Amino acid sequence: MKLLTKGTAQNGHPVFMRKCYCLLGFLAAALLFSCNDSDTKGQKLGADLHIPDSVEINLKDPQKEKTQEKKKRIFMTFDDGPNLGTRNLLTILKEEQVPATMFLIGLHTKASPEQKLMWEQLQTFPGIELFNHSYSHAWRNRFTGFYKNPDSVISDFNRAQAMMMLKEPIARTPGRNAWRIDSISRTDLLKNKSVIDSLQRKGGYVLIGWDLEWQFNHKNSQALQSPDQLMAQVDHLFASNKTLKPDNLVILAHDQMWKSSADSLKLHEFIRKLKAKPGYELAVITEYPGVKEALVNQKRF
Ligand SMILES: [Zn+2]
Repeated sequence: MKLLTKGTAQNGHPVFMRKCYCLLGFLAAALLFSCNDSDTKGQKLGADLHIPDSVEINLKDPQKEKTQEKKKRIFMTFDDGPNLGTRNLLTILKEEQVPATMFLIGLHTKASPEQKLMWEQLQTFPGIELFNHSYSHAWRNRFTGFYKNPDSVISDFNRAQAMMMLKEPIARTPGRNAWRIDSISRTDLLKNKSVIDSLQRKGGYVLIGWDLEWQFNHKNSQALQSPDQLMAQVDHLFASNKTLKPDNLVILAHDQMWKSSADSLKLHEFIRKLKAKPGYELAVITEYPGVKEALVNQKRF
């Protein structure tokens, strides 16, 4: 005890310090070993550490998808082609690379050399869908008589379907805003309801109406709403949830509205404005809710 006390007192704390150094050395070695051990597990630990990261990423992705899902879809549809406005329409669609749906009149596909040429171009034009708008268009808009006989209506559509070799039985009724997509049924003029029902049930057609018409002057075919006015109508219909299907809006326009270059600028401007809106996207009509399912369910003869 004395030596220890003396030694401790005389040598500064060498004995004690040596023990301390030994202990520190042991701890340092243990720590080093521990660190090395950590290194060997580094990749595994790193991988473990990535799990929360990947969870975080997985949580973010559905949010992004939800944001994308929230985009409101607009279906631009053009009736009565091929006619004198079809050429300008196709030029704009090509330049802007946007999808569109055309409801064609059978008689128009061979009514003039220009219409024949447009019909040829339509058949191979990328990004568009071609469907049936009847053969005769109610024999030049004689709608009252046309919608009296269900069998003649069906045969008129079948004639157009065959001559244009259209694959899908999707159609738009001339002069009537009618929807028939499975159980969805809406007719603007109730006195024609039963005949249009026959076109779906007996004729086997899926019928596409519209939520908003880009109206035109029937004397000079010029658009009545400006691009800004039409866009305001689109915004309002979505905001007030007044479309047939929420977040989906079908616009009706007509090929003949674009026969002059000056008038077709309005269409070009409207499409550019649509493309500039991040919350909207354009689509073809087979992407409309329920259409693909209805095509499967329809019993064609
Ligand atoms: Zn029409």
